[in-house]
Amino acid sequence: MLIPVEQALASLLASAAAKPIENCETLPLAQAQGRVLAHEVIAGLDLPPWPNSAMDGYALRVADAGGAPLVVSQRVFAGQAPEPLQPGTCARIFTGAPLPEGADCVEMQENAELLDDGRVRLLQALKPGQNIRPQGQESRVGDRVLAAGTRLGPVELGLLASLGIAELAVISRPRVAVLSTGDELVEPGQPLGPGQIYNSNRTVLCSWLRALACEVVDAGILPDDLDLTRQALAGLGDVDLILSSGGVSVGEADFLGQVLREEGELALWKLAIKPGKPLTFGHYKGVPVLGLPGNPASTLVTFGLLARPYLLRRQGVEAVAPLQFHVPAGFAWNKPGTRREYLRGRLEQGRAVPYGNQSSGVLRSAAWADGLIEVREGAVLVEGDPVAFIPFSELLG
Ligand code: AMP
Ligand code: MG
Repeated sequence: MLIPVEQALASLLASAAAKPIENCETLPLAQAQGRVLAHEVIAGLDLPPWPNSAMDGYALRVADAGGAPLVVSQRVFAGQAPEPLQPGTCARIFTGAPLPEGADCVEMQENAELLDDGRVRLLQALKPGQNIRPQGQESRVGDRVLAAGTRLGPVELGLLASLGIAELAVISRPRVAVLSTGDELVEPGQPLGPGQIYNSNRTVLCSWLRALACEVVDAGILPDDLDLTRQALAGLGDVDLILSSGGVSVGEADFLGQVLREEGELALWKLAIKPGKPLTFGHYKGVPVLGLPGNPASTLVTFGLLARPYLLRRQGVEAVAPLQFHVPAGFAWNKPGTRREYLRGRLEQGRAVPYGNQSSGVLRSAAWADGLIEVREGAVLVEGDPVAFIPFSELLG
């Protein structure tokens, strides 16, 4: 019986929520990129702190317009504190400058005529509030501007900067041990012997984990050997997750699973997902263990759809689901499957087009692709039918 992807994800997320990373650390804003906010952020000032001009032009009272041209009684640049506006006059004002008290509108300079005598004639009717950015239009003192569990990217960091926040508490990086299993694996830079291949999953997982604010404990290559597996796990020390790839295929001597059965607990799932059917989840001495299938495209898909949301939820992130949208299929599908397929594909003229070779061993399919095309269990598609598309930009960070 295959487990639906949603069900496996729900179990993983529940398990993650039950074991949140509890430590946090205070960082300067410039170092908080990609991290997760530990506490909500409350605005300590109004944004903007005072009404200001949205235009280069003239600040005045609407009531004073419509008569004779107005004398310019002051000039206000951004960064200056204006005098109250003298009745019956206008103020030259520039974008971002505070509005003089008493003014109730700003006319852009293009709609005003500067006369030779220095007075200003207004060429159009005016409305109160025109071209004024009111105090607090963005946020008010006391507003909850960001929730705990928000991931901090350029926009969030900019918002914090606009509130004058120089440092903030973020969730400590989860420490993740990465194990690549397989006698056939060799690291790049070493010569390849007969039957050997280069270890690519290690590089994929280590760099992806760092993008998810994790600290990588690279545990290297684990040979297919029970004693060595036991020793490797025992030597890992203090980590928040053990993440392995390979060694979970059906029929294979399952060394990681055997150690977990002896010294921990183990769930072996056969997921209704392609690529990536076999998945291990368990605990070793209380530390969660996630075992991904070893084929490079399977590792990619299961990490992106299961391990990524798991690790974000461990850090307290609520919104862990990648954005996806529906686009017309640029292909036909006439072999309804029992597993949900995630084809590595691209958008071409708005249509989702899969890479020609969808073998789970082919990582190049993903390098060619812009994202994953979801083909649901049992689906039969003709060209133009809607399919869900998950851009890699949603998954890879
Ligand atoms: P396994 O899950 O160990 O049976 O591995 C399935 C396939 O993925 C085999 O062809 C392995 O050689 C390959 N594979 C496993 N681990 C890696 C890795 N770290 N890098 C590249 N290929 C791998
Ligand atoms: Mg293997």
